[in-house]
Formats: sequence, C-alpha cells, structure tokens
Amino acid sequence: MGKFYHEAHHVAKLATLHPSHRHLDIDSGVGYNKNNSSMSDGVHMHRRILHVDLDAFFASVEQALDPSLEGKPVVVGGKPGGRGVVSSASYEARVFGIRSAMPLSRAYRLCPQAVFVDGHFSYYRIASQRFMSILDDYSPHVEPGGIDEAYVDLTGSEALFGPAHGVAQRIRERVWDELRITASVGLSTSKVVSKVASDLDKPDGLVEVMPGEEAAFLAPLPVRRLPGVGPKTEQVLKGVGVAAIGDLAALSPSYLCCLFGKTGALLGSWARGEDGSPVEERGEARSISRCATLSRDTLDRPFLLGMLRYLSEKVGAELRRMEKRARVVALKVRYADFETLTRQCRLRGPTDIDQLIFGAVAELLQRQLAGAAKLVRLVGVEVSGLQAEAQLRLLPSVEDRLERLDRALDGLRLRYGYDAVQTGRTLAVQRRAGVFS
Ligand SMILES: [Mg+2]
Repeated sequence: MGKFYHEAHHVAKLATLHPSHRHLDIDSGVGYNKNNSSMSDGVHMHRRILHVDLDAFFASVEQALDPSLEGKPVVVGGKPGGRGVVSSASYEARVFGIRSAMPLSRAYRLCPQAVFVDGHFSYYRIASQRFMSILDDYSPHVEPGGIDEAYVDLTGSEALFGPAHGVAQRIRERVWDELRITASVGLSTSKVVSKVASDLDKPDGLVEVMPGEEAAFLAPLPVRRLPGVGPKTEQVLKGVGVAAIGDLAALSPSYLCCLFGKTGALLGSWARGEDGSPVEERGEARSISRCATLSRDTLDRPFLLGMLRYLSEKVGAELRRMEKRARVVALKVRYADFETLTRQCRLRGPTDIDQLIFGAVAELLQRQLAGAAKLVRLVGVEVSGLQAEAQLRLLPSVEDRLERLDRALDGLRLRYGYDAVQTGRTLAVQRRAGVFS
C-alpha cells in the first residue's frame, strides 16, 4: 500500500460513506460565448483548457490499495451473485467486454476469474480530493466534472508554469506518483474539445488539439464521442444519415432545432468545436440522490412507496445536514428490462422536509405506474435546484413543525442508527430489501 493510501486509511474510517453527486449538466447551457478566445491585456489569446480524467478510477484505487490486484481484472460493484451493476472495471477486465453499468451477473459470465469487490467509497472520496488538490496547484480555475475528472483553465499561466502541454504532463506524473492512478488528458481551447480528446487515447493518454484545428479534429469521429450525444440522439442522427461529428457540424442550426429543440443548436456548435463555456470554480453539490436496487423485481405499490419514503428520508437528512433546500424532486425508475427513466416536478417552494419530498415522488410514481405492466428493479429519489436555507415558508407553522420533527429524528438516528425510528411506511420495508447506493 503506497504512502498516500496508508495515511488515507486513517481518514477513511472517519469519512462519510454517502457522497452527494455533482452532475455535469450539459443541457444547462450557461454563459456561452461565441468564440474560444479571451481578451487579456488587450492581447487576443487562445484559451488553454485541460480535461483530466482518471482511468478506471474505482478499480485503479482498489489496485493501488491491494498490490496483489495489479494486472488483474478487477470489478467494483459487489459480489457476482448480487443484483447490482458494475460501477468500475479495470482495463484488464474491460478486455473481456466488461463495462460500467453492466449487471454484475453478466460481468461474471464474461469473466468468472475477475476479482469482484464491493468497493471502498471513503477511499475514492479521499483520493478524489487529493486529485483535485493537485490540480489546484496549477490554476485557480478547476471545475470537477465528476469524482474522477475535472477541467483546468491554464489560460495566461504560461509565464508561471510554462506551456500547457508540459503542465499536463506534470499533472499526469504527479497523479501517478502520489495516487498510483494513470490519468488521461485532453488539451485544447475549449471544454468540449478537451473532453473528447481526453477520451481518445485512454488509458494513460495525452491528446492535444491545436488552436484552429478543433473542427478538423472532431470531424472524422463518430457522433457518440461528442458530449450530449447519447443512444437516443445517436439514433435520430443515424436516421437522417449523420454518423460522424463532421456531418453533424454541417447541419443548419434551424434543422437541428427541429430535431432536438433548443439543445440542437448547441450540439451543432460543439460539433464545430465551438464552446466558449467558462471553467467554473468548484461549487457546492447541485443535486443529491439516493437509489435502491430491489432484492427482487416487483410492482407491489405499498412496498415501492415504503422504499421511496426511506430514500426520501435519506435525501432529506442530507439536505438538512448541508443546510440546503431543494426546489425540484425527481423519481428514477429502472424496470426489469433495464429501461430507465426519470420524472421530475417542481415544488411550490424549496424544502428539506421528508414528507414533502416523499409526497412529490409518490405522486410521480403513481402516475408512472398507472397502467404499467413491467416490473420495477430499481427506484431512486433525487433533489436538485438546491438553495441555501433562510427563505420564508409558505405555511410557516406546519412546515416548521415538520422540519423540527425531521431534525429530531436525524439526531436520534445519528445516535442509534436509522432503524431506531421508523415511520409507518418504512416499517414495511426491511433494510435487506435492496442494495442502496
Ligand atoms: Mg474516469
């Protein structure tokens, strides 16, 4: 075990196990400029933006923690008999076709000799913090895109650190020396192009796209390589004869708007390598989510509602811990055939009250399951639109009372565990009824 992980061992025991999730929301489209350059001291200069992405992050940490796993196929997500999915696979496991989000049972069939581990999430969190602090040494503008990736704006730092390419190399070396994880880096004038570039030569790659070369670099790549293009978008594009990013770049904004609405024009700009979005400094979590893979597929509504109540309480407790209130509540449902959908609604006012979160998500479930015949495999609750507390309540007396009650329960559970206090609904749900994440 390397020195960093040896020290992390002590911290890991104290760290919380439930990270909140900060999503890179590519549809939010905030603050886009028209070009990839910025003005500084009256000199027109190109931006230098890195996208740094750790390779097979969770699996790499496991290999660093236990050197006997080095060079072996490692699957993080749980034991092969479990009902969860792969959350990370080492490159040795990927050779067998194992991928993230694949059911563990399928991963096992592909490679029975792989080492299956539950995962050490507190270590991942600490390693992630260490990774981000390495990046902080090279720029005040570091924007995490997830637990294992971040954008770094190096524009104007040449006098201090030398050319961006060299900085990218040093970052890769330090991440390896300090964390024993390889990192892949993309370097270009924008976030979108760097993101595509970092993914192109994984693992342990460094791909630089010169200013002015963005569109030519992207053109021959399949559209799926572009952020924001998922399987559905890919299908639609295929239907109109678009397979490569260059074909997408050639479509007119109005045609793209017809196909995809407002995000269509944005996709078109990205395909041409135009993305002026700034690297935003690290903010707070933008959403909190908890979900549960059920121990068996079901359509039993009291059971599903009980599970949602349990997850709502978990989300509510995290909101209160963060002193935030949420404006938007979402329900996630995955059916037995792995079709997954998310439905969300906007609350009348921001809240951190379990009962109001649950009420919203229960209504979404009732609507979702009306006439549904497919069994449910996973349910989840997510809140977003987070804001700081201290806003007037709609119904002060009732809501204050509910919140005081929730906080009192939080305190009891902190001391005696979740099961110490249960509401009528969650009594129906045994804790072993699912795999929580
Ligand atoms: Mg990664």
